[in-house]
Amino acid sequence: MREWFFYFKMDYVSLKNEVLLPSKKVVITAHQSPDGDAIGSSLGLYHTLKARGFDNVNVIVPDEFPSFLSWMRDSDKIIQFDKAGAVAKELISEADIVFSLDYNALRRVGEMGEEINKSSAVKILIDHHQEPEDFANFQLTKTTASSTAELIYELIENLEWLSSINKTSGECIYTGLLTDTGSFRFPSTSKRTHEVVASLMDKGVIPSEVYQNVFDTSSIDRLRLLGYTLYEKMEILPDYHAAIIGLSLEELNKYNFQKGDTEGFVNYPLSVKGIQFCAFVSEKESGKVRISFRSKGDFDVNKFARAHFNGGGHINAAGGSSDLSVEETIHKIKEVLSSYK
Ligand code: 5GP
Ligand code: MN
Repeated sequence: MREWFFYFKMDYVSLKNEVLLPSKKVVITAHQSPDGDAIGSSLGLYHTLKARGFDNVNVIVPDEFPSFLSWMRDSDKIIQFDKAGAVAKELISEADIVFSLDYNALRRVGEMGEEINKSSAVKILIDHHQEPEDFANFQLTKTTASSTAELIYELIENLEWLSSINKTSGECIYTGLLTDTGSFRFPSTSKRTHEVVASLMDKGVIPSEVYQNVFDTSSIDRLRLLGYTLYEKMEILPDYHAAIIGLSLEELNKYNFQKGDTEGFVNYPLSVKGIQFCAFVSEKESGKVRISFRSKGDFDVNKFARAHFNGGGHINAAGGSSDLSVEETIHKIKEVLSSYK
């Protein structure tokens, strides 16, 4: 059992009776490069508030989310800060309540962080990453939770609003659970996770439907890119029980890369017996290099990413970035690994 555990600054009575009133203007935000948990938690909360009569609720994310999440109801109403900055800034500055979901530090939302910081809104942080920054008025953060979506359910439960979850909001919350647990296979999956799933099924969620919407809507290009990546680009370092994958922008473009196409690639090498660490290095449109780290067991990739790649995350899943080229980044990862050995 992991001991990292934060659970403070959450007074449900005040939250329910003084803050979360239907007349309030609510903005829900999630992290850069939003994933299934970021979008699922945001829309799950959005639909729940709508069902409770809140009519001024907006979801704002820093940048584009992958198309495999666009089946979720009202995902087309999500505002992107990089595309609609003026609208987003106004909504944030005029909001009564700003939710920060699935991130633990304002720098994880880029420029939007300054707007949130400046806003006089009541700030509510709901997250499951390690070492949250202290910027919110209310905070529900548990690193033992499988996903932020699991904590959204917990919030709704503690507000005694469970009767307001319906199939629509339930599917969004379920998506967060499904994607952040790697389809319920990571150690973060708990009895509680499955209890939440059971309760969402009682609300009408059909797991196979959500699974198909999320995972069985790939393009042919994506599958071929996966084949190429595993066949040509996966380097195994048996001495380090590690694997490293690197993809340049040129390689990605050859397969008509769309945002989200490489989601999950980092997990494949861990299915090889003995591999306990994988780094997936990829070049972004901006020329920046992003890295995803995954591990099995005790190797703490949150610490690894914080110490060497300006990032962070969880013990077994983290991310970071590098100003070096893809090749140089791979070289640096190998050097750091050799120092850990
Ligand atoms: P992914 O590899 O899927 O982008 O990220 C894995 C996990 O690490 C996610 O929970 C994500 O929120 C977190 N993460 C990714 N990049 C960063 C980063 O640059 N900083 C921090 N603090 N966390 C990150
Ligand atoms: Mn998450």
